[in-house]
Amino acid sequence: MRFVFFGPPGAGKGTMAVEASSEFSLPHVSTGDLFRSAIRKRTPLGLYVKTIIDAGSLVPDQATIDLVKERLAQPDARSGWLLDGFPRTIGQAQALSDFCPENWVIDLQVSDPVLISRLSGRRMCSGCSHSYHMVFKQPKIDGVCDACGSPLYIRDDDREASVRNRLLEYRSLTEPLVDYYREKGNLVMVNGEGDPKAVWASLKQIMLDLHALKH
Ligand code: ADP
Ligand code: AMP
Repeated sequence: MRFVFFGPPGAGKGTMAVEASSEFSLPHVSTGDLFRSAIRKRTPLGLYVKTIIDAGSLVPDQATIDLVKERLAQPDARSGWLLDGFPRTIGQAQALSDFCPENWVIDLQVSDPVLISRLSGRRMCSGCSHSYHMVFKQPKIDGVCDACGSPLYIRDDDREASVRNRLLEYRSLTEPLVDYYREKGNLVMVNGEGDPKAVWASLKQIMLDLHALKH
């Protein structure tokens, strides 16, 4: 199955994709994680996207589409995937439809005040794709990832000015995709509020039901 996890920054896409990846044995493909890895390794792509990402803007479509196309062509993605953070523009959505169409788009719905409180307390693992929260999802050992033991850090783009810009970009460039997928007929709205365990329990049931439908 090919699922897109959609929603504003802080909606819980990454958190839910980690759960779903382990439950359904599907690769979790996060464009944000791929870009952050390129930045850490100082590749040409990483050097190109760093200032864009730190400012909370979107990376241009072609660079993002090429990255995803290459990732989804890898053998582990042959029988399905969970896309997190892609597509974010109509151009990206059209490209995905052409090269590897998704089955379902899960729209995690979360109000702005909750998004802001989640982003301001987010802590990311420097070694894997797990994210934590100072209040809502604390690691067992302060500052250390439960899954891989790497140190946690605060993302540069979780600073206030950048968060504001990311929410604006989401509203103007990404939210129009809700209508795009509604018209396409594969959009599923999911309430993303509530504690992470409760959101995952309802999302898991929805994914099982969708899987049974075999869209
Ligand atoms: P996204 O990938 O959509 O940007 P994340 O999955 O990184 O969002 O979640 C953003 C922050 O909110 C993280 O700190 C995460 O631990 C926390 N979080 C995720 N889901 C929930 C939830 N249901 N309730 C409270 N906090 C959550
Ligand atoms: P995320 O981890 O999904 O919050 O993404 C972090 C940042 O990476 C975003 O704020 C963008 O700057 C960039 N990014 C991630 N995915 C995309 C995408 N699909 N299109 C453009 N930029 C992206």
